[in-house]
Amino acid sequence: KQAMWAAQVLGMEMLICTILGLTMFCQGVVSCISMYAQSHSWGTGSDAHYRLAFKWMELVFAADNTMWVVNSLGLGLLSGILWQVQPPKDDPQSGRELTRGLVSMSSLLSPNEKEGYDQVVEQIANRGFRLGALVRFWERLLDGQVMPGFDSGRSLTNDVVRRAIIPESRVDHGGFALATLWSSTETKPQVMVTHNWTNGFGSLVAAILADALGRADFHEVAAQIGTGSGLERVQAKLGSKLETTYWVCAFCINQHASICAGFAPEPPKGTPEWAVWDRRRYDSVTGEAFGLCNCRVEKVLSHTDARCELNKFDDMMTHLAWQVEGFTQLIVVDDVFDVLYRAWCVAEIFEASVLGMESRIQVSSQDAVDLNYDKLSLLDVRQCTASSQADKEMIMAKISDVEAFNLKIQELVFSEEMGLFAKWVGGNERSRHAGRIVRTFEPPVTSLPQADVRCWALLIVGLLVVGSSKTMGFLAPFALKRAVDLLSRQDYLGLPWLAIFAALKGMTQALNNSKTAVLCFIARPMGRRLAGRLFAKLLCLDLQFHAMRRTGEILRKLERPPRAVDTLLRALLFTLVPIFYELVVVFFLLLSRAGTDVAATVLFT
Ligand SMILES: [Zn+2]
Repeated sequence: KQAMWAAQVLGMEMLICTILGLTMFCQGVVSCISMYAQSHSWGTGSDAHYRLAFKWMELVFAADNTMWVVNSLGLGLLSGILWQVQPPKDDPQSGRELTRGLVSMSSLLSPNEKEGYDQVVEQIANRGFRLGALVRFWERLLDGQVMPGFDSGRSLTNDVVRRAIIPESRVDHGGFALATLWSSTETKPQVMVTHNWTNGFGSLVAAILADALGRADFHEVAAQIGTGSGLERVQAKLGSKLETTYWVCAFCINQHASICAGFAPEPPKGTPEWAVWDRRRYDSVTGEAFGLCNCRVEKVLSHTDARCELNKFDDMMTHLAWQVEGFTQLIVVDDVFDVLYRAWCVAEIFEASVLGMESRIQVSSQDAVDLNYDKLSLLDVRQCTASSQADKEMIMAKISDVEAFNLKIQELVFSEEMGLFAKWVGGNERSRHAGRIVRTFEPPVTSLPQADVRCWALLIVGLLVVGSSKTMGFLAPFALKRAVDLLSRQDYLGLPWLAIFAALKGMTQALNNSKTAVLCFIARPMGRRLAGRLFAKLLCLDLQFHAMRRTGEILRKLERPPRAVDTLLRALLFTLVPIFYELVVVFFLLLSRAGTDVAATVLFT
């Protein structure tokens, strides 16, 4: 659809250009014939000839006026003032017919098992909860009712799952997903939250609230909800947003059917994996070991079991993307960007993109992005971690082409236009830009004066181009006058003058149109010089400065000079110099032809 739309737009623009060209041509022909008729009529002096000449002149006027109208219309249409259409959204239905990104686990099952599998997908997909329920849960955590020792700034999601969510969701000897207990009826979520369990729970809640409030980052909201009064203020601002439904694995997966009675299988002692595993068994704030739940719910941990709730996130997302209009994804990025290194989360981001879902990110602040900017370029799903080897294997098994997956993820995260971080860093383009600056950077001491001379020379060339374009524009009417004068006396020396007029007109247009190209020529070396000098300055600063700065911050600063040069040159070459030049020339023309009073009046008004 979009391709057809683009082809139609291009065709339309070509048509407008053709019409513009044709009217120009017709006007030229009419002008020439009229001029010819005039030059003849003056010679003969007969009434019939004069009448004919007048007729032609009227035609020229009519042609002129028509051309004005057609040109203005063309300009309006081409520039988008009069006619602007948005590309059509590709049909969501056809988008969903795309081949699935990840390989569903159900493809390995028998038809019988598949039915059970789809039932579980349906069940977990119906476990959305309202934002209001999450806010109430947070309120109770703050009060210390649910989890003694809870710290809104430090407690991790893992702590809250172990010490609040699992006990809260237990009912007698059984247990449910906490979201099931919060919502009395089946609730379809509108937003799926992708996050990792080693992230602060306060950050998770703050990010969800900040997203609902339309904030760009969540550090302010995180600070606000740390106190009861701040939370009330946030709640008041949320208003009807409290009804929005969410899906968060910590609340929407039944922990009693999986992890409540134990931990992931123990990795070999002494390895880094063991240290990570061991850390997950203790509260990160109080250091207490987590108690285990002794409910009687059957644990289904095997990823090949159709009843398992942990291996179905891709099928659930597909199911919801079909069923819920505007089903979106919110990615909560923690301060160390771990979420992008968790196999699980990366797979969810990938699947959302394949399903054509809108994905938004919440980071705590620009600082966090600056600090982790380098890390992003190393994204590789093979390097990602999961809470157990089995989880990782399950996710890797879902990925049919790892290289393609990695490329897609890099694109999703980095792409300047569409990337998740487009708003925060210029992504690929920015780093490439910095790379270009560094690569083309000349040693500062030896070549500085020479390079400066070149920059000045280029600027003068630019001014000359603009000046000559304007001058020719001024001279063209004089050549035309001369031509008409000569031709009216039947003097054929007028014809070369006519040619000069045409040449001047053409040159004016050509120079005018090449201004942008000339600007590029001048702006690029100048911007590079400035960026190079800035880079040299930065290198000369003492270690203290560099120890305190983040790569992203410095890259952003390095990117400024080329842009600034471009803006300044654009203003100088396209606006200031031409206007000033025109003013001066018109002033002197009027001074010589119409006297001081008229010239001064025109100048001042
Ligand atoms: Zn349990």
